[in-house]
Amino acid sequence: MNDKNKILLVDDDSFLLSMYSMKFEKSGFEVKAATNGTEAIDLLKNGYKPDVLIMDLVMPIMDGFTLYENVKKENLAPGALAVMLTNQSTAADINRAKELGVSSFIVKATTIPSEVVDEVKKIIK
Ligand SMILES: [Mg+2]
Repeated sequence: MNDKNKILLVDDDSFLLSMYSMKFEKSGFEVKAATNGTEAIDLLKNGYKPDVLIMDLVMPIMDGFTLYENVKKENLAPGALAVMLTNQSTAADINRAKELGVSSFIVKATTIPSEVVDEVKKIIK
């Protein structure tokens, strides 16, 4: 583990949000969780500086793509890597994520939580 250990996790499913938060905390990460894009943006505007943004795609208020576009447009998370953690996995979604500069696209249904943690550790190396 290096010093890139701060995560902002955004998912409207509160069960998944607390489950993934716990997994990352157990692996030594500092985690802040938000249930929608507005909450996430507020955390960033209030000074939280994550190394990794992990975003669900399908969420009320704004989807994960819109959230990440807003974060980039306002430079709210400079240097942070982006991960999409979602059950959407169409080619169009994956391409859009690539175009936005997302580092990793993880499909929840086929990835166990410890693999999600491993993937994040891999991309921050
Ligand atoms: Mg969702």
